[in-house]
Amino acid sequence: MELTILGSGGSTTIPRPGCNCRVCGEARIKGIPYARSGPSMFVNDAHLLFDTPEEIAAQLNRERIDTVNYVFYTHWHPDHTFGMRIVERMYKFWLDMFVRGSKPRNKVRVCAIPEVMGDLKSMRYRGGSFFDYYEKSDLIEIVELQDREELQIGNFIITPFKVHATYNTSTVFLIQEQERRVIYAPCDVKPFPEDPQLENLALLIIGSFHLEGALKEGIEIPLGNPLRQELFSPTELQDLATRLRAKRTIVTHIEEEWNRNYDEYRDLEKRYNLLFAYDGMKIKT
Ligand SMILES: [Zn+2]
Ligand SMILES: [Zn+2]
Repeated sequence: MELTILGSGGSTTIPRPGCNCRVCGEARIKGIPYARSGPSMFVNDAHLLFDTPEEIAAQLNRERIDTVNYVFYTHWHPDHTFGMRIVERMYKFWLDMFVRGSKPRNKVRVCAIPEVMGDLKSMRYRGGSFFDYYEKSDLIEIVELQDREELQIGNFIITPFKVHATYNTSTVFLIQEQERRVIYAPCDVKPFPEDPQLENLALLIIGSFHLEGALKEGIEIPLGNPLRQELFSPTELQDLATRLRAKRTIVTHIEEEWNRNYDEYRDLEKRYNLLFAYDGMKIKT
């Protein structure tokens, strides 16, 4: 299985517009891997996209990805969905429509569990939801996934696991190809779902984490702060990876406010025995 981390950033990009902190300033000059765009991941062998952040068009161009057959949504948060118009940008040709009188060139299957699909469909204009409009325009086919129910796509099996996060319903996706099991769980995945299916992993890609110590502007997250309920500490992530028997763990959804640059994450990798994602990271498993 070959995967690409299209975006390793969190709820805001690095650099953050208007921010002149050390991390953002350096990212502005050096670009990738110091710069990070919104959270998304691509399964190259099957053209499966997980989430569409605002930067998705630039990410696909950067990686020379010319086909997307499926989009899986983890949850509605803007950093994961506001690039949903990508189906229109890739596959709707005005000349096809108005001159040739033909349909869009590809119908993308858009997949999510019912709660998340409900959230996505409530993103709307006066005339209805954006997804209903795309469906009517033959750009997408809505596929409602059921919690813990498998979807077979060629040699791949995708299974969603619902997460009741503090303020939100989110999803952990299990991606299987023969014996290889990979989890993509970028955001709002605490408490992590308990299921034997989610064990013995070739790879765990996970977000929802915070660093310890001084963060942006020297702020530390106090003990008992709600952020600690929502996010995994590095120690909690290590424990989870051990419990899930993950051969490799890659941490993604990296926040600008954690105030670390690419090199500092490389140093943390040694300390924590975790890997940190970067934009354009390719993983073979
Ligand atoms: Zn900054
Ligand atoms: Zn997020």
